[in-house]
Amino acid sequence: MTPADPSNQQPTPSLTTLAVRAGEHARPTASTSLIEPIYQSTVYSFPDLDSLEAGMAGQQDAYFYYRNGTPNASTLERALAELEGCEAAVCAASGMAAISAAFLGVLSAGDHIITDERVYGVTYALLRDELPRLGIEVSFVDALDLDAVAAAFRPNTKLLHVENLTNPLLTVTDVPKLAELAHARGALLSVDSTFTGPAVFRPAQHGADIVTHSLAKYLSGHSTAFGGAVIGRADLMSQARRVLLRLGGTISAFDAWMTLQGLKTLGLRMRAHSGNAQAIADVLQNHPRVRRVYHPGLESHPQFLLAQDLYPDGFGGMMALEVDDADEFVKRLAGRIPLAPSLADVMSTLSHPWSTSHRALPDADKRRLGITPGLLRFSVGIEDVVDLLDELERALA
Ligand code: PLP
Repeated sequence: MTPADPSNQQPTPSLTTLAVRAGEHARPTASTSLIEPIYQSTVYSFPDLDSLEAGMAGQQDAYFYYRNGTPNASTLERALAELEGCEAAVCAASGMAAISAAFLGVLSAGDHIITDERVYGVTYALLRDELPRLGIEVSFVDALDLDAVAAAFRPNTKLLHVENLTNPLLTVTDVPKLAELAHARGALLSVDSTFTGPAVFRPAQHGADIVTHSLAKYLSGHSTAFGGAVIGRADLMSQARRVLLRLGGTISAFDAWMTLQGLKTLGLRMRAHSGNAQAIADVLQNHPRVRRVYHPGLESHPQFLLAQDLYPDGFGGMMALEVDDADEFVKRLAGRIPLAPSLADVMSTLSHPWSTSHRALPDADKRRLGITPGLLRFSVGIEDVVDLLDELERALA
């Protein structure tokens, strides 16, 4: 036996050094985890400068630093692009971060954006208060009035932004017609599809160029993950990613991972949400204690025919109802259907637009829009519909 070359012998590191390094490089090799692990590392290492250079130059896929992206975010982005039938996706720390990146990726000072006046309150505030400070012109229109939308275009209009089903009264936006209007004038259409998700409606398949989501809603589905996504053409997504990374709006690896777990049941959940909401709307529309029900699957809905055309497989779980005394109704439900100002959980929840999403509007404006003190937005969950109907009947009795 030849004696070991003493120059190859590594000195035994001290416990302090070992504590920093111990275990890190002992990876199992005979098997891989079925589900992608959570990559919590905030930085990635390279074996040599050539590999670093190949990664930096984009010749090889590589991760560098958490803010620039994690494997979990990339997996979620690929999944969302596939589900929406688009080239690419960019995930963000929240729905608002995603919408901001989508807008700022496309718009520069001197450009003009048209938006539906019904958009989510914080989107409305972003458009009303922030974009004009950057020199971007904004017009608010009633997107149900196609003539008004057409008249709002200017030579510098770059983007038309709408939601496909609106909050809280579930008006149905004619995405194919709006896409035609925008494209004929050289503009893009972006659609916030948070209220339905791709198992119910895929805006890009109806002409939208950009799709946005709050991932905290149907895509993750359990009120346990937070994030946003912009989805669309690869060139538009690289513009959105550039802005998002510079603004620092990266999704966390954990939230991306949690959203991926939620996505696995999206199809099943959405069938249950849609079926339950339709059944409850059908029953409550004839209930003597319910003043009015808003659901696109009811013949009383002003856009019933358009809704049938665009949503052949249901509308998801969102509806609204007006009762005489919303407070009494919420109390009588005694938390079985809790009051919670979000939506799209597997658990049914109610929200009160008068005191939450629309509270900043003067009362007269709220009433003009159909937002009354008795209006409740109902995010119908996936519980057994027999139980839900029983609880609603008791609360209304
Ligand atoms: N768009 C819609 C339709 C929403 O309802 C919300 C939030 O409720 C958002 C965007 C904003 O998403 P986030 O809360 O993830 O920033």
